This record gives sequence, C-alpha cells and structure tokens, in this order.
Amino acid sequence: MDGFAYIPANEPENPGPLARYLPLAADGIATAFLAQHSRPDDWVLDPFGAAPRTDLEMARLGYRVLVAVNNPVTRFLLEATANPPSQADLRAALAELAAARKGNERLETHLQSLYLTECTKCHRQVTADAFIWERENGVLAGRIYHCLCGDNGEYPATEADQARAASLAATDSLHRSRALERVATPHDPDRVHVEEALGCYLPRAVYTLITIINKLDSFSLTPDRRRALLALVLTACDEASALWAHPTERPRPKQLTIPPRFLEKNVWLALERGVEFWSGGGQLVEAVNWPSIPGEAGGLCLFDGPMRDLAPHLKNVSLGTVVTVLPRPNQAFWTLSALWAGWLWGREAAAPFKSALHRRRYDWNWHAAALYAALKNLSDRLPLNAPLFAIVPEPEPAFLSSALLAAAESGFDLTGLALRTRHDPAQILWRRSAFSHADKKPTGIDAEAVRRAMLSALQERGEPVPILHLHAAGLIAMADDHSLRWRPEALAQINAPILTALAGPEFIHHAESKNAEIGLWGLVNWDATTDSLPDRVEMTIVRFLQNNPSAALRDLENTLNAELPGLLTPSLGLLRAVLASYAVETDGHWSLRPEDSPSTRRADLDAAAQALSVLATRLGVTIQRQESPQRLILWQDSGETVYAFYLLTSAIVGRILRQNPYPPERSLLVLPGGRAGLLAYKLDRDPALRSVAECWRIVKFRTFQRLSEMTGITREGFEKELSRDSIESPEQMKLF
Ligand SMILES: [Zn+2]
Repeated sequence: MDGFAYIPANEPENPGPLARYLPLAADGIATAFLAQHSRPDDWVLDPFGAAPRTDLEMARLGYRVLVAVNNPVTRFLLEATANPPSQADLRAALAELAAARKGNERLETHLQSLYLTECTKCHRQVTADAFIWERENGVLAGRIYHCLCGDNGEYPATEADQARAASLAATDSLHRSRALERVATPHDPDRVHVEEALGCYLPRAVYTLITIINKLDSFSLTPDRRRALLALVLTACDEASALWAHPTERPRPKQLTIPPRFLEKNVWLALERGVEFWSGGGQLVEAVNWPSIPGEAGGLCLFDGPMRDLAPHLKNVSLGTVVTVLPRPNQAFWTLSALWAGWLWGREAAAPFKSALHRRRYDWNWHAAALYAALKNLSDRLPLNAPLFAIVPEPEPAFLSSALLAAAESGFDLTGLALRTRHDPAQILWRRSAFSHADKKPTGIDAEAVRRAMLSALQERGEPVPILHLHAAGLIAMADDHSLRWRPEALAQINAPILTALAGPEFIHHAESKNAEIGLWGLVNWDATTDSLPDRVEMTIVRFLQNNPSAALRDLENTLNAELPGLLTPSLGLLRAVLASYAVETDGHWSLRPEDSPSTRRADLDAAAQALSVLATRLGVTIQRQESPQRLILWQDSGETVYAFYLLTSAIVGRILRQNPYPPERSLLVLPGGRAGLLAYKLDRDPALRSVAECWRIVKFRTFQRLSEMTGITREGFEKELSRDSIESPEQMKLF
C-alpha cells in the first residue's frame, strides 16, 4: 500500500436531472485521477455506469470511455447529457404535447384543470403548484399556489380540493392497471412488485402520467423532439411520485418509503420545469453504441447490459484503466427505473432490468456478490498492473467491505485507499495482480494483524475517529495478506475480527449509544509524543501559507492531502477552521493575517512573557523560564509551582496537554485571541483532548497585558481576574 492522496471533488454547478438518486459530489475526481495515471489514447472502462457525470467528464477529457450500463434510465441520462436536447426542441415538444387534444380540450388545459384550487384572497381558480398530504391518515391537508393577484404560499386544503382528489381516486383502478400493464403482463410474476412500486403514486399522478404516455404512443414527432419530450416526461415521472417530503427532510430517497408529510406536485408544472433541467450546458460528447467506436477526440461507447455480458467481448479493446463510481444499493431508484422504463419505452425495453423489481431489500452480501459478478471476468482482460480506481459515494463500513471483497476475489491488489469523512466519497485504487488468488485455498483472517492495523491507524491519527476509519484500517490489513476471500457469510466474517478488536481493552468508544457506528472510537492511552492530525494540519497549513503568500484553496488541499494521505486525509471542515484562524481570503486566494506573520507573533510572545514577568515581580513570586520544546513560564513561591504558563502562538496543544507535569488546575495556555476559536474547534472535535484539557485555563495574550497595567494588583485579585470574563474554559469556548 502506498499513501494514496485524496483527490478533492469540484462543487457541482448544476447537479442535473434525477441527481437525488445519483452519486454525490464526485465531479472532477475521475479526471484528476486519469491525468496522473493514464494516457488519453487508452480506453477507460466503467463497468457500472452508475454516474453519468463521471463518464461524461472523462470523455470530455479526450478518453474513449466504454460504459456497461444495465439500467435503461441511467443509459438515457448518459445519452441525453452527452448530447443534451436543445432548448428549442424541448419547448417545441412541450408545445406540441400541450396542444394535443383530450376530448375537446387542449391536453394542457385538461391536465392543469386537475390541480385547480380557489385563491383565498381573490377567489379566482388557480392551478396549485402542489398539494400536501399526510401519509398516516391519507388526508389532503394543504396546497401551495401562486395567484396572479399576488397571493401565494401554503394554505390549508379546502373541501373542494378534497372532493376533486376523491373524484380522481374513484376512477383510479382503470388508469393504474394501464400503468401496470406498461411494465408487466397480467401473468407476469413481477406484477405484484410493480403494483407495490406504483403505490408511491397518487391517483391524480397516475392519471396524468398515463394520459401523457398514451399520447406519446400516438404522437408523431421528429426524433430530436421525441427525445426531448421523453426527457421531460422522465423527470416528470420522478416529480410526480410521493417521495417528496415536505418540508424537505430527506432529499436522497434510497427506499420506496413515502414520507409522513409529502408533496403531490403538479405534473404539468414538472414538465415545464424540466426544460431548465435538461437543456444545454457543457461541451457535446460523442456517444455511440457498442461495438461502434468513438472518434479520436474521445467519447462514450455504451454497452447495453451488465458488465458480465460485456467482459467476453473485450479481447480486442486495448483497455488501459478502469475508473468507476461504485453503485450503492438503491431500491428506490432501481425499482422506479424499471417502472419508468416500462412507461417510457414499453415492456420489452424494461424487461432486462426488471430483475430490480424482485428484490425489495438489498443487503450488502447481495451487493458484494453483484460487484464480484461484474469484476470477476475483467482482470484477465487488463494488462498487468492496470489500475482499477473506484469512487465510493457515501461510504459506510459494509460498503467498503463489499467493494474490497469483490475486488480482491476478482484478482485486484489493493494499492491505495483514501477516506475523508463519511460525507465525502472514499477513493480506492487497485492494480491487476500478477496472479489470481482465487485458485488458492482461502487463508483464515489474521485477527491479530487486523487489531494491530486498527491500533496503529488510531495512533497515527492521534485523535478519536468514526468506526469507518478503523474498519477501513482492518480491511486494508486483510487485503494486504490476501485473506479477503469469498466464503459463505463473508461480510460477517470480515466484520468479526474488527468488532472483536474494538471490544478489547485498548479501545474506548466515545458515544451516547452502544451502536458502534455512532460516535467516535479512541485509545485508552494516547502516545503523548505523537502530534494529532488536527495539530499536524495546522502546522502544514501555516508552513504552506508562509511559503505561498497567496494560495488557492485547491493547491492547499492537494498539498495537505499529499502530506496526510490515505486514512489521514483531513476534512474540509478542519482545513477551514485553521484558515479561519490564520488567514484572510482575497479573490479566492488565502494569505496569512498580518498579525500572524512569524515576526509579529514573536513580538507578541515576548510582550506576553514581559507582562508575566512584570506581574510576577509585583506579586512577589519568582520566575523560571523554559524556551523549548515550548515557551513555558513557571511562577514559583518557596520552591512550589504556583502557575505554569504555556505561551503559544498556535493552537497546537496536544503534546503540551498530554506531557504537562504540573497539576492541570495550576496550568494555563496563553495564546493570541485569534486562536481561541480554533482551539475551541479542536476541543469540540476530540472528546479525548477535551477530557485532558478539563481543568486547564485558557487565557488570551491581551489579558496579561491588561493585568500588568493594574499597579495595585494582589495575588487574590490576580486569581479573581483569571476567573473573570477574560478566561474561557473549554466548555464555554465551545460556544464560539
Ligand atoms: Zn388570487
């Protein structure tokens, strides 16, 4: 294992259609990886095709990207983002749909009339933007509208609103069975699952969608407009479901669970809003269907099916690199995809993906098996040492186990794993191994090696961490000795030594719950000579800013991640806390505050030391100084230490707190006022540090300045002043 430096992602400008089901915050990672590890004339393979944006960005960089994509909805997203429908086509397609007839009405008028409600102010009929329902009692409780009279907002539903909803429910079964039939025939064993999935659509939504879809069948449109209209209807299918909590509390549904209070959105408005979602943005990318080949400038080559079906055809493709975003189990998206595919493209198109309907719950053993099925025939097709790079969104212990197990069993050697927080995608690098371990008899897991790896990961980090980091450390140890092997109940067997280690006497769980996944895990005994990660981050950033007077955040992030790679990768929150304490931003560039230049800070330290010495004389105590390893001033009286003052210009206090030989209630940290917030952040973050700091007092430079100017001060007065407003105990400092 080398230290893999975490690659920062770019903030997505516009997350694009159906983003709430797609992997989070992965923009820019794949291209930064390719820039370091590959040549543009290589093919890149994405065996899962779960993240259209990632495939697109690699193709834009000039790579030919071969994508196995089994989900017809993701496939459509890939094609439609590579070559987005024009705004003109989107508008024209929607206008044609609007003008279609339903009886003797325009379709738009007809569908909008389903959402009519009365304005509370001017009593005109307006179309609601959405209705609000309560799941438990099935009551239509509220409505949201914008009226021309200027009145808008959320109001209780009226009896008329409820009556309209009820009249639509009366004819519901007819439309619902049509919606079913688009996906499964009456004798299809999957029909019951489709029916369940349809449960997250209210009658008005089913009626509206099926009316639109019936029109699509009989409509003659140019191919471009048809594609544009399909795109609009696809996003409307999502907007029309009941999976929209109100107010928003769960923006990323993974299960088909209707929220307690949810929105029933106006489907026609959803179509109109779709014009913005889908149109334009970014450079066009050539997208062809396998086995056609994109041109020299790179592009997407889409294989319609799972990776296991593509693998046998790969003999003649010079694959250099595998880059992918690993899919998470997502029952909601997969089930809805099967449903929407049937609606938009018919039963035959939905058929290959219909297996998504069989499973109501996806467990991680299933997930590991699915990843393995995709990867197992792949390593033979790759040159020796070819990289397999995976971005793992929303990582959690079982997800990492599943990924590492599947790759190890498929003949890939783990060479790097970088983890930031559980909110950032993990990044894992493997290389195709020289020989397959699959033929060898599995060796048992070395529980002692796992425990040692977890301990040393914590020691190196120097602060408590979530279980995710320790789990990763344990997994890395198993990957290194090739004991990650396919066996019955493999994930439980992988977990066992990790949990056993955590139950051992060296580890301590800082949490209010017994659930190991909650809270932080630390050591009972920390090594007092190791700098904690936050302290190292502070040192690295200050040094970097001293050498680079106007630094871009991204350069700083990359330097930090290279110096603190793998499981040490610091969070953006920590980076920002250090910057907030030391630096100012001008046009996106960071520089040290003038008062934080080394010479100014030296002068501050001297002044604080001088003030302490003036005070000591006045109070009749003797002084002892120590300059290294840190500046320490002891006040002594008759050979006894009255106070130990540690003078610092930083918030790097871990070693001082842990190595201090004096009673903590007599010990003080003396630092610049600008550092107090950062110290508070560190204490808030680390329960172990907090408990060491409990009886310490933290005083700002300027307090001693002030006290040294009080000529009549007595010892009692001094002690009182220290206990007054100028001193913040760690507990109070948390309020910063
Ligand atoms: Zn009105």
